[in-house]
Amino acid sequence: MSNDFPWDLLAWQPNSQQLQQLQELQLLLRHWNQQLNLTRLVEGPDYWIGQVFDSLWPLQPWLTGELSGATCAQKFSVVDVGTGGGFPGLAIAIALPNAQLTLVDSVGRKLEAVGAMAKELGLGERLSLRCERAEKSGRERSCRGQFQLAVARAVAPAAVVAEYLVPLLAPNGTALLYRGQWSAANQAELIEIARQLKAEAGEPRAIELPEGKGQRHVIPLTPVAACPTTYPRAVGIPAKQPLR
Ligand code: SAM
Repeated sequence: MSNDFPWDLLAWQPNSQQLQQLQELQLLLRHWNQQLNLTRLVEGPDYWIGQVFDSLWPLQPWLTGELSGATCAQKFSVVDVGTGGGFPGLAIAIALPNAQLTLVDSVGRKLEAVGAMAKELGLGERLSLRCERAEKSGRERSCRGQFQLAVARAVAPAAVVAEYLVPLLAPNGTALLYRGQWSAANQAELIEIARQLKAEAGEPRAIELPEGKGQRHVIPLTPVAACPTTYPRAVGIPAKQPLR
């Protein structure tokens, strides 16, 4: 599958080392999936489209160097909240070689597997793992306001994810909300939620995944001022009482 991967749709291609790392990541996922139920997207197009492509397409402006990250030499820090089996975080770490990744998940055994995979892939030095709730990361001095890019895929409804991600953003940072279907009503709600977090919701981008794997949207959030210190609220509250 890696041979007929639709790289042209990404306007970016991995170099030979990155391609090898993506292939090796598939083998590692197979291995760890026998012990832990990390993901069902491991084989063929499920992996190459459902994991690799789906993780990377929202990053196109960073992959192509249109936005800083792919080309700039300074530290480019990325946080993946609710990384689970390591996506989109590990794919981003492979694709953006100057990025420092922080992967957050509250489930320790998943993070242990992700850490072991990262080490095998030679990504260990650029990766830090935080086994904690996102609400806690957002209040830690070492995380709050620190990241140029914050991503979350398949973690919670958009309102909840926005409350997890925006407090983590540096003043020039961007949060990317990975979503499936997205309507004008969803966008109107998100604009209001972002306003409470002192952020702005940008135009959604849409893509039809190859191999009939469905429609995806990504919505960027950017800070317009410092996020109020009341956010994120205490552990569990964002999911129980989502902003609206
Ligand atoms: N992002 C991965 C992906 O797209 O394959 C994993 C998605 S999995 C369905 C959701 C993950 O988010 C789980 O591993 C769960 O433990 C984590 N999660 C959900 N809420 C969280 C929170 N508040 N703090 C940290 N992790 C959270």
